Amino acid sequence: MDAPVKPLKPATTSQVALPRPTKEEAEAAVRTLIAWAGDDPNREGLLDTPARVAKAYGELFAGYGQDAAAVLSKTFKEVGGYDDLVLVRDIPFYAHCEHHMVPFYGKAHIAYLPHDGVVGLSKLARLVEVFARRLQTQETMTAQIIDAINENLGPRGAAVMLEAEHMCMTMRGIKAHDVKTVTHRFTGVFAEDRVEQDRFFAMVAGRR
Ligand SMILES: [Zn+2]
Repeated sequence: MDAPVKPLKPATTSQVALPRPTKEEAEAAVRTLIAWAGDDPNREGLLDTPARVAKAYGELFAGYGQDAAAVLSKTFKEVGGYDDLVLVRDIPFYAHCEHHMVPFYGKAHIAYLPHDGVVGLSKLARLVEVFARRLQTQETMTAQIIDAINENLGPRGAAVMLEAEHMCMTMRGIKAHDVKTVTHRFTGVFAEDRVEQDRFFAMVAGRR
């Protein structure tokens, strides 16, 4: 079997480097996994499952067909000279871990210090979706979100924090319930200035 071709720039473009299988091939693969789990893919309750799973994948992994640059392409400069911190807190996301293909889900908090205009607030939520709806690690997703903000908005600084519960930890293995994994990354002014970092953490915690 050929080794998968490594995509050149996975952060903002589709990562599918191999020819896409047909819908029929995808459904056959689901039937194989049902049998591997120990059930009968031909029993009545499971007959339509492969088609449903293949369809659901279109939504759960829609991020491969989406482009962060397009989401952040429109900025607004008429903001009355506003250039202080913009924070969008508690953006919900649902992703799948790339190691077990089970969900991890939680909230994203994104802040930036505008340089030349601001982006629509809903666009930051859409940006999270672009990267959440892929096979992911929380660490990679954190980096991809902040890289996209820096590449497309050129802010004076950016801060991203992700808090998530990983079903591969809560359902299997150590069965750790209510364990949150927290990742964060700072660039620009946020990386240089602890005061800005503390302000970000305080605002995320809702204290101001
Ligand atoms: Zn996992």
